[in-house]
Amino acid sequence: MTRAPVRTATRRRFDVTGVVQGVGFRPFVHRLAVELGLSGFVGNDASAVFVEVEGRGTTVAEFARRLVADAPPLALVTGVSAAAVPVTYEPGFRIVPSLNGDGARTLVPADVATCAACLAELFDPEDRRYRHPFITCTDCGPRFTIIRDLPYDRPATTMAGFELCAPCAREYADAGDRRFHAQPVACHDCGPTLWFEHGPTRVEGSDTAIAAAQHALASGEIVAIKGIGGYHLACRADDAAAIERLRARKARDQKPFALLARDVAAVRRLVKLDDAELRVLTGPARPIVLLERRADAPVADNVAPGNPLLGVLLPYSPLHHLLLAPGTGAPVLDVLVLTSANVSDEPLCFDDIDAATRLPQLCDALLTHDRPIHVACDDSVVRVLDGAELPIRRSRGYAPLPVPLGRSLPTTLAVGAELKNTCCLIDGDNAFCSAHVGDMGNLETLRAFDRAAEQLTTLHGVRPRVVAADKHPAYLTRRWAEARAGAAGEARLELVQHHHAHVVSLLAEHRALGRPVIGVAFDGTGYGDDAAVWGGEVLVVGTDVRTYRRAGHLRPVRLPGGDAAVRNPCRMALAYLCDAGLEWSEDLPPVAACAPAERRAVRSQLGSGTGTVSCTSIGRLFDAVSALLGVRQRIGFEAQAAIELEHVAAGATAAPPCSAPPVRFAVDADCVLDHRPVTRALVAGLRAGVRVDVLALAFHEAVAAAVTEAVVQVATATGIRTVGLTGGVFQNVLLARQCLAGLRAIGLEVLVHRTVPPNDGGLALGQAVIAALAAERE
Ligand SMILES: [Zn+2]
Ligand SMILES: [Zn+2]
Ligand SMILES: [Zn+2]
Repeated sequence: MTRAPVRTATRRRFDVTGVVQGVGFRPFVHRLAVELGLSGFVGNDASAVFVEVEGRGTTVAEFARRLVADAPPLALVTGVSAAAVPVTYEPGFRIVPSLNGDGARTLVPADVATCAACLAELFDPEDRRYRHPFITCTDCGPRFTIIRDLPYDRPATTMAGFELCAPCAREYADAGDRRFHAQPVACHDCGPTLWFEHGPTRVEGSDTAIAAAQHALASGEIVAIKGIGGYHLACRADDAAAIERLRARKARDQKPFALLARDVAAVRRLVKLDDAELRVLTGPARPIVLLERRADAPVADNVAPGNPLLGVLLPYSPLHHLLLAPGTGAPVLDVLVLTSANVSDEPLCFDDIDAATRLPQLCDALLTHDRPIHVACDDSVVRVLDGAELPIRRSRGYAPLPVPLGRSLPTTLAVGAELKNTCCLIDGDNAFCSAHVGDMGNLETLRAFDRAAEQLTTLHGVRPRVVAADKHPAYLTRRWAEARAGAAGEARLELVQHHHAHVVSLLAEHRALGRPVIGVAFDGTGYGDDAAVWGGEVLVVGTDVRTYRRAGHLRPVRLPGGDAAVRNPCRMALAYLCDAGLEWSEDLPPVAACAPAERRAVRSQLGSGTGTVSCTSIGRLFDAVSALLGVRQRIGFEAQAAIELEHVAAGATAAPPCSAPPVRFAVDADCVLDHRPVTRALVAGLRAGVRVDVLALAFHEAVAAAVTEAVVQVATATGIRTVGLTGGVFQNVLLARQCLAGLRAIGLEVLVHRTVPPNDGGLALGQAVIAALAAERE
């Protein structure tokens, strides 16, 4: 009910920017205004939602507050400008026609998990969408992965081929309905259809197809399932033989698989869950959350071999909900292994034609449908640190939401690095990071990268003036950027130092550009300005974000044989032993793990320097310590040795005995972190019979103490009070916690990643900002 106009009224206009179109924002504004008894109107223009409201000043203020605080789940408000306008005394509140066409410059929303209202309808036998596998509304469903072009309207999505039936069309057109302008809206009569394929057999009809898939899964088969951003492979989580076959087909030896669990109760049978973790797990993005495994978790050991964490996610599409729910009469599982349907190192399979050639080798059966996926989007992965999300892989549910920069910058495309890659586009005052693309090792990934970059620029209708890449001369992404800058003619190429980009990426996501920071950039590898391998860096970035000063670093060692040293942490351990002046005696695990010929090869490399490069990477030190303590000598996937070392340390319950030598770095006046005393103390500890978990924990504490010491040294010299922790090593939650505690205890403010990953998946954001600023100020 709209009340009569108030004579003492004020009228204000609001322009709301961000992801505010196609997400139910106008109906929300309409409801809010009517509820508060305000008159006025709301509409879309080219890049914003505009609102005018009129009523009592206090009520208008309340409206302004709730406009942001109560925004719909898919909306992301990045800015609201408000201005007083003359009162009109016009009664009522209405939605006015859009200006300049709907959503010409709309920001694309992310894909969002099925909302509670749709879920209630999905399992309500009285509802006309009862058990409809594509139920959705303005608050939920696929977005990013189905949008082909702009303006964002149904014909520009992969729903174009599904003509709305009359009841759906009415809901779509009704401003008071939950499905007003929800582009993927559908029902049993007009929506996509589901079917199941098993060899030559094809089972039609949603419920019969779902029942057939449930039977196949229960009997131990591997079923490919077409999802939101690509195809998955699923199998029983308690069937070691099925999981073994899955590993063989995917050529994935040891890397953990994620688990899809029916509901929170099923999750609690697998892992321990605190309130913050529960919040992230059940949030609208529905990422895979890495959680502490329960000893009695009812899953086979080869789901996550030797790993105390399990990656768990809840259903995020109606199809997932139906697959895990009783109702078809078929046997139902409450937990499934769920992994992307591709061979290791290949990009995600999302295209139906591609699926037809790639999937038969991978699965026994297929549960699929006819709604095309336009863009691949992997599941996101997060950990919880200090009560909030720490992104590990930012993809479905987050991409392509903007990272607001707080100021407008030249249009820039940044291409990232090499591993876990993403690209990033700066358009105006927002940065848009692509979904996870993968490791840039092969032609398929490069093609996937092409598509991701193309899609970012197409959706925004821009041509980058600047292209940014890593300085590493051998990175495929750098070559891609060089070609792109050359081809585009007017685009300038900016090369950005790897760790500088990590630090600025962290600043950008905290809208702290220009705030001086001591950046602790710890990772596996990054090309240094001196052509050495960097990765244990303390960088100062001042008010001028374009430059940095290397204020400290880990003591360099020789990295014997490049990639071979990365794949064989035992060789790294030999290098650190050598540097610490310790003999390679057989009682030490990494020495015993290397055959005499391998040792001779490493000794000759270290002795002559041939085939070695100077390396300050703390990731390599974690590898070496993992080998030294006998945790992991050779790896099957990236960072495996360091990850296992963290897990061993996290399980330690005792402190080192007082008699054991203290594990401590020496930090000199030039802020060089000398690891030789650490290596010596760990060897002495091993020989004194100190437990490996205790030594692993002592090592983590030593790294955190060295970080604090180095930061204090730089803070004292510069007066800077803000510290940033970035780089892939800070996916290590144990280390991050220890560093946070140490640095906060001395009154420093500490920034950690909350929006983009600390690993190279978050690098492109920093590259883009540095390159854009460099171009702007010239
Ligand atoms: Zn919904
Ligand atoms: Zn319909
Ligand atoms: Zn890095």
